[in-house]
Amino acid sequence: MAADRAPAADAAAEVIRTQVIVVGAGPVGLLLAAELCLRGVRVAVVEQRHGPTTESRASTLHARTMEVFDSRGLLPDFGGPPNEPRGHFGGIPLDLTLPGAYPGQWKVPQNKTESVLEEWALSLGADIRCGHRLRLIAVVQDGDAVEAETVARDGRPVRLRGSHLVACDGQDSTVRRLMAADFPGRPAGRELLRADVDGIDIRARRFERLPGGLAIAARREDGVTRVMVHESGAAVGARTGPARFEEIVAAWRRVTGEDIGGGKPLWVNRFDDENRQLADYRHGRVLYAGDAAHRQLPTGGQALNLGLQDAFNLGWKLAAEVAGHAPAGLLDTYHAERHAVGAAVLANIRAQSELLLGGPEVEPVRAVLAELMRYEPVRARLAGMISGLDVRYDFGGAAHPLRGARLPHATLRVGGSTCTTYELLRSDRGLLLVLGGPVPAAGGRWAGRVDRVAARVEPGAASGGLDGVRAVAVRPDGYVAWARDGGPEAGGLTEALERWFGAPA
Ligand SMILES: Cc1cc2nc3c(=O)[nH]c(=O)nc-3n(C[C@H](O)[C@H](O)[C@H](O)COP(=O)(O)OP(=O)(O)OC[C@H]3O[C@@H](n4cnc5c(N)ncnc54)[C@H](O)[C@@H]3O)c2cc1C
Repeated sequence: MAADRAPAADAAAEVIRTQVIVVGAGPVGLLLAAELCLRGVRVAVVEQRHGPTTESRASTLHARTMEVFDSRGLLPDFGGPPNEPRGHFGGIPLDLTLPGAYPGQWKVPQNKTESVLEEWALSLGADIRCGHRLRLIAVVQDGDAVEAETVARDGRPVRLRGSHLVACDGQDSTVRRLMAADFPGRPAGRELLRADVDGIDIRARRFERLPGGLAIAARREDGVTRVMVHESGAAVGARTGPARFEEIVAAWRRVTGEDIGGGKPLWVNRFDDENRQLADYRHGRVLYAGDAAHRQLPTGGQALNLGLQDAFNLGWKLAAEVAGHAPAGLLDTYHAERHAVGAAVLANIRAQSELLLGGPEVEPVRAVLAELMRYEPVRARLAGMISGLDVRYDFGGAAHPLRGARLPHATLRVGGSTCTTYELLRSDRGLLLVLGGPVPAAGGRWAGRVDRVAARVEPGAASGGLDGVRAVAVRPDGYVAWARDGGPEAGGLTEALERWFGAPA
């Protein structure tokens, strides 16, 4: 493992002993911290910011993320966000509606998502320390722990020691740099400038491709307009400082002919189409999630949703590892599963970047694609990609349409009451859901790690395709480890439970 320098010996340094160190209290770090605390893991989160973020970044939660939040009972905290099924692929309109409880995309400002997750993580006991900037990381010599050092807001060094460290420190990850982690991909070729501007009155533009570039303008309910502009052919250049409002005003004028210089900028920002992915999401006791693991054009809200689902995949696996009951290789499946998903998302984002930011030469491709997208299978395939509903992990073994896919949303009758499949996932454990016939005896030996529930699909209600399915074993992140359609044999259940939950207790 590429260990950095050991933390400087400093008698005055405070030492925090924990189990997992999470670097970064963005949405990904907060969700991961909560998932670990939910399972009794002690977690210290270090965050360089002194308070909540003031940046209005991603504003879209996609269908799979909504399911994830539903399976933790968090949706009421979001207060019924508006659903907007009109998405896009590279700026070409795309209806995101798919079967499921949350079709479409849900408009939630990122700072709202962060405040819900932070409150949840704190309520579960996460030790979140703001005003702590990580400055170095070291794998201590005995090899069974990670030690990191931060600088607290008063300048004091604070040392943290835990069994694992997870870098959730965003696109310019300090951990990635200090560990010299291999981060291959493509450098930025195109740049977008963006501002939230008060006091301007311009017409809305979704993705307006003009001879000089791309212009986007959307007015929020509070009257503030978000403008984004890309000038065709403008090189990313050697930028030495942050984007300035005057640059955006000038670019907007060149592309649209309009003057927005009289407005008041509330947030000015730039981003680009750099596209990179860590070669390995795990370096021994150091793991990476969210933007620290992959960098991409933030189009269509996919970056945030991808990162949240990294955290949801990692949380239960790392908790099992820390608790000492993880089966061999469980933690390595985090890289295997999420690197593959990340690579697919980064590939679709690159394609979208070409379609959106390319010049007149991409018009013929756009026209052909727009025509193909009118065919339902094409639309549904692209909607599945963007919503995250198409994720299917390769679990090998006997084929079943559900194996490796997410547990579908369905309404069930359990005893005398009605509930949804996602309500049944609201524990820190796996689920053996028996939908007819005897409850397989094998499941009982994993009591404490897997809940056994006998239910039936509620007649006339949404079945999510579970009709005809007799039993499913579901991992704590909602993906189906094993399924059976009928017949007396429960073949493969024991192997599946051993594979994901370890030897029976
Ligand atoms: C400027 C910007 C604008 C964006 N706009 C959009 C958008 O419009 N639409 C969209 O879909 N997506 C957008 N994104 C992407 C989206 O915000 C990210 O995908 C999402 O925030 C990723 O979450 P994260 O938790 O992985 O990283 P982040 O949200 O970046 O969180 C990382 C956290 O780590 C902390 N940190 C970093 N270094 C250290 C350190 N050394 N020590 C301690 N703490 C540290 C940071 O302060 C931060 O709080 C934007 C991203 C950025 C950076």
